[in-house]
Amino acid sequence: MKGDLSSMIENDKKTSAAMEVIREIRINPIVPTESVLVATARSMRPKKEEAPLTHDTSPHLPACPFCRGNEAKTPAPIAQVPAVGDWELRIVENLYPVLSDEALSPNFVYGLQQTIDGYGRHEVVIDHSSHGIFIHEMSEEHLALLFSLYRTRIEQLYHADDRLKYVLVFKNFGPAAGASIGHTHSQIIAMPVVPDNIQAEVKNSQAHYLATRRCIFCSLIDEALTFEATLYDRESGEIRRKISVGQFVIERSSRFIAIKPFASRYEWEVHILPLSHQADFLDSGLEDISDLAGLFKRTMARLNRVLGGVQYNFFLHSLPHGDEYEDNAGFFHWHIEICPRTSIPTGFELGSGLFVNTISPERAAEQLRNVVLP
Ligand SMILES: [Zn+2]
Ligand SMILES: [Zn+2]
Ligand SMILES: [Zn+2]
Repeated sequence: MKGDLSSMIENDKKTSAAMEVIREIRINPIVPTESVLVATARSMRPKKEEAPLTHDTSPHLPACPFCRGNEAKTPAPIAQVPAVGDWELRIVENLYPVLSDEALSPNFVYGLQQTIDGYGRHEVVIDHSSHGIFIHEMSEEHLALLFSLYRTRIEQLYHADDRLKYVLVFKNFGPAAGASIGHTHSQIIAMPVVPDNIQAEVKNSQAHYLATRRCIFCSLIDEALTFEATLYDRESGEIRRKISVGQFVIERSSRFIAIKPFASRYEWEVHILPLSHQADFLDSGLEDISDLAGLFKRTMARLNRVLGGVQYNFFLHSLPHGDEYEDNAGFFHWHIEICPRTSIPTGFELGSGLFVNTISPERAAEQLRNVVLP
């Protein structure tokens, strides 16, 4: 037994020695102000790890307002799938909205203080009738229904009110990711402004397009699939690192790709993009959505396996609506960002805006890729 353990430690030492130490600041190519410090040396462990996920996996809880049979505990559904009989998915109004369409205070400017009316909609998507199901346990058919429902609802919201500039779909899973109700659910927030981070993506991809006539997201996909390079030490001329084809690719299907960004805020962050250029999620067809469902399920299963019960946020970034964005379809490219929450941001990260990765994105991608799926 003791022999086993020491040989394990020996092996571990060998692997860590083989693991190159990286300490560098990486600039996010899409939003350069969002940079990340990749510091993989063992001594660089400044972070407090999140407690592991404790999750009630029971299919039904009598007291849960989102479980079947308790429909009276939520407002009347905005949508229900299927429309009659036992539902699989529902959309209801959020009882504690961060934005709502009841008349609030009008826009207001006083000196340097400005407010925009907190007008909008906040809805809850009950993802599945089974209370504690993990997203990677849902069937591909179910996930395709979920993505179709997002698409339908986003379209309806934009259509219903042209004051709405952005409809954000997101999911919080696990207490570390801010989920307050155990039943699996996601949220839709329709707002009168385009959030800053999406504006930054639109603005920077526009600048890239004007300079190169290429969509930056398409270029990143091409790079992830075909790029190969050797980096040499400037002084000694020794090989510092080899970047090989597919190093950042986690999953690929006929229409989508899941990649680990080269400079990502969260250590296990993964982005999913359509392989062919498409600015607006609303333009994706049924075949796109069923292909996405499979790739999404496999990606979530990989994260769950590597992290042992992943807590995460995911959100959909798509071209904002409104006249000023109409010409932007050539260079924006919709995507899903999955942000697993494995540690609590430190004062250094919040104060500097420089997020720290203690595992390099290429190692994280390798581990995710190596998961053998059933
Ligand atoms: Zn429930
Ligand atoms: Zn593109
Ligand atoms: Zn984005």
